[in-house]
Amino acid sequence: MNDLQAIAGVLQRSRKIIIGGHIMPDGDCVGSVAALGLALTQLGKDATMAMPDPVPEIFRFLPGTAAFLAGENALSGDYDTFMVLDCSVPERLGALRPLLERRRLTVCNIDHHVSSHNFADYNYIDPRAAATAEIVQDLCALLGARITPDIAACLYTGIITDTGSFQYENTTPDTHRRAAQLIEKGAPAHVINIQIYEQKPLAQLRVLEAVLPTLRLSPCGRVAWMSVTKELLNNLQAKDEHVNGLINYARSVRGVEVALLFREMAPGRYKISFRSKEVVDVNRLAGRFGGGGHVRAAGCVLEGDLPFLQSRVVEAALEEIRVSGA
Ligand code: 5GP
Ligand code: MN
Repeated sequence: MNDLQAIAGVLQRSRKIIIGGHIMPDGDCVGSVAALGLALTQLGKDATMAMPDPVPEIFRFLPGTAAFLAGENALSGDYDTFMVLDCSVPERLGALRPLLERRRLTVCNIDHHVSSHNFADYNYIDPRAAATAEIVQDLCALLGARITPDIAACLYTGIITDTGSFQYENTTPDTHRRAAQLIEKGAPAHVINIQIYEQKPLAQLRVLEAVLPTLRLSPCGRVAWMSVTKELLNNLQAKDEHVNGLINYARSVRGVEVALLFREMAPGRYKISFRSKEVVDVNRLAGRFGGGGHVRAAGCVLEGDLPFLQSRVVEAALEEIRVSGA
């Protein structure tokens, strides 16, 4: 069933709700969870906000995030409903995943990934939504929650981070109208922009400096890739979250259609991010390796040594470019 009203009904009947998102949470995930948590609290519900991983520093300015529980700390509550936001597959719930197996717990899933799976009791998946935050905005209306300036700030952050500040193809006239409504409700757009894009920890720029030399281009110039090892991050005392956004530099090169970022998660285990500019469906490309996401942004996790994985994934990207006529 793809019915947001049914999910609103579940929440209205619930007493103790946990709201969670995906591993390595991004702005849409954090903003959506915080917004729904604030809305449910306003409606008198007992709402716990949780993430498998700690909230990245750049999103900690968002109202509500100080109360987020991280990882297993969230598992002990006696919840009746688990709201999963922005998470396409159960694996991406990380430490929160055991909640899916809990009996007498109703699971609802709200998402906008094309590759999303109907793993919950109630699923609402709308790939036309630019961000999960757009759907949460609708859910707040169905619940009769008032969009306070705090809720508006969280939802606005979800929209700008998933649309690259309205630059990506997923941005529609409706996205702009929604953003305008949120600004009218008190989202401080320029403050949010400064918090996210103009207050980067120095470590993030040091990581950029160290990662740019790993940039490689295929002979045809259509595929670009970079890699980040644990050693590089350790040497700079940088965190995983400081790698976010780097892939955009690889995509920004003239002529590049597909950008890849290989990120070491553990010895012999790599997270691969995929981005495309105009033509290639990277959801399909990542799907060849067991991952997924969106048409222009996707990811997967693979095991093997780095040069082997690079040659396999770059070759697959070149193949997708050939078949798509890009
Ligand atoms: P990012 O590269 O920013 O981590 O992720 C880009 C998009 O791909 C996100 O929308 C995310 O949900 C999706 N994605 C990233 N990693 C994975 C993964 O391992 N599996 C799946 N199914 N999707 C992923
Ligand atoms: Mn999202």
